[in-house]
Amino acid sequence: MSLKPKLLRETFPQLDLIDAPWRHKYFDLPKDERCFICHAIHAAPRHDAKNLLLARGERAIIILNRYPYTMGALMVAPFAHVGDYREIDDQAHSEMNRLVKRAMNILDAALQPKAYNIGVNQGVAAGAGLKDHLHIHVVPRWAADTNFMTTIGKTRILAQDVDGMYKRLKKTLKNET
Ligand SMILES: [Zn+2]
Repeated sequence: MSLKPKLLRETFPQLDLIDAPWRHKYFDLPKDERCFICHAIHAAPRHDAKNLLLARGERAIIILNRYPYTMGALMVAPFAHVGDYREIDDQAHSEMNRLVKRAMNILDAALQPKAYNIGVNQGVAAGAGLKDHLHIHVVPRWAADTNFMTTIGKTRILAQDVDGMYKRLKKTLKNET
């Protein structure tokens, strides 16, 4: 802003009343809309690639992790914004189970991992990065991937290529169905 605050206040005394309403827009949003999983679910399907949403079910989705610890790490999440495993209804849970298997099939076809970590982190103390929207991690593993990770360091390099990984998995998904 080029005007000095004092001059701004004198010229536009009503500004104090206006009080930057655009900032409230973010803070007043329901929690759901600040959650990247909810954001991806509620966005139009044409934004799926940008949001890394790989597959949509009736009650759950498969989505890529933007900052994966392992390349190709997927998450299966219910539509419902719930943070407790017990709050997921049985129908959604049943679909999540199917989507976990589908995620594994996609990863098998695209990346041929040697093993998997499949699981839920509920709560921050358990390691949940997004504690309010429960999700099942489907993490492909290779015998040497720990060394690989140590060598390249942290998640930054992986994160840069996550859109490329999305395209690769999406292509695999299309060939499968
Ligand atoms: Zn959510």
